[in-house]
Amino acid sequence: MTDSAFCKLLTDLLNVNGHSKDERRIADFILKYCKTNGIEAREDKSASKTGGNAGNILAWPKGVNPDKVKTMFASHMDTVDVGPSRKLKFSGSRIESASEWPIGIDNRLGNALMLRLLTEKPGNYVCAFTTQEEIGMFGAEELAVPKNIKQIFNLDGSQEPGHFVLSTVGCVTFKVTLTGQSSHAGIAPNEGKSVIAMASKAIAELPLGMPGNDESINIGVINAGTRSNVIPSKAEIIGEVRAGSLKKTEQVVKKVMDTFKKWAKKYGGSMSWQREDMFKPYLHKATSPIAQRSIKAIKSSGLVPRYNHYRGGSDANVFNNRGIDSVNLSIAARNPHSPKEHADFKEIAKAWKIVEALSIGD
Ligand SMILES: [Zn+2]
Repeated sequence: MTDSAFCKLLTDLLNVNGHSKDERRIADFILKYCKTNGIEAREDKSASKTGGNAGNILAWPKGVNPDKVKTMFASHMDTVDVGPSRKLKFSGSRIESASEWPIGIDNRLGNALMLRLLTEKPGNYVCAFTTQEEIGMFGAEELAVPKNIKQIFNLDGSQEPGHFVLSTVGCVTFKVTLTGQSSHAGIAPNEGKSVIAMASKAIAELPLGMPGNDESINIGVINAGTRSNVIPSKAEIIGEVRAGSLKKTEQVVKKVMDTFKKWAKKYGGSMSWQREDMFKPYLHKATSPIAQRSIKAIKSSGLVPRYNHYRGGSDANVFNNRGIDSVNLSIAARNPHSPKEHADFKEIAKAWKIVEALSIGD
């Protein structure tokens, strides 16, 4: 594929809308591309479980025996909101946004690299185009991963090519509902049980921010109260906890829950608690086979391997949690989710070399 053909492919992918749960058009684009280029592609049945309008797509290069494949590449098809109409512009060797919205380079660049790979590089691998990564990796959760897959290279990192994520924290979100007693604030103030008082005390006691080496607590939303002269009786508080191990995550989550419970009780109110596990942590050693294979591919591309711990999640967390080794590789999609989102074709060329190197062998 020439540079200009790849540029056109990427631009075409960027110009197809596909927000989370609404990936139908981009899925159809990818299926059509595969059909036109003689690439075997199948959409799985995950849409019925995820509630979206498209399933994940698995695609194999020509000539491969799908039952023998042990390596998978993955990138998600959905993008964050890119505004009413995506506006792209080229400046120098960069493709970037010409509006106040992102362009969806996260992760159409991953899609473009995989389509190029499927077109040009026969090999013993499969590519997975997933849905709903941005809202909780729901597509990857339901992906029908072929049974012999041992390693998954997720192409969704936003640093310079050569970086990959060796370990991440896990993340749990929570919703606290506090119930108190409403009363007139001037006439019968002592008959009220203020949920704002309960919430304030609890939040003041919690070590928000980053209280430990690898754990963080945030309160992101508070909804409470109706009027200045009414003691509020209902509050909803939404937040999250991140930590580097399952054990630590559970300890911190419990601490948050107990703190709200304690203050609700002290003020004579009650608390209900809901939690959602957004993603689980993962941890590979630098000596593990997947890290070593990544390092070798990066070195053979003439780049310096850099691996790190990360405080965010990706489909790689889901794959690891499902028992298949996965790392998240950076592919030059920079400043994701912001109007400064861009990719530089000089960096894309580096990412391509890494992907190409990984496609060789098992
Ligand atoms: Zn992404």
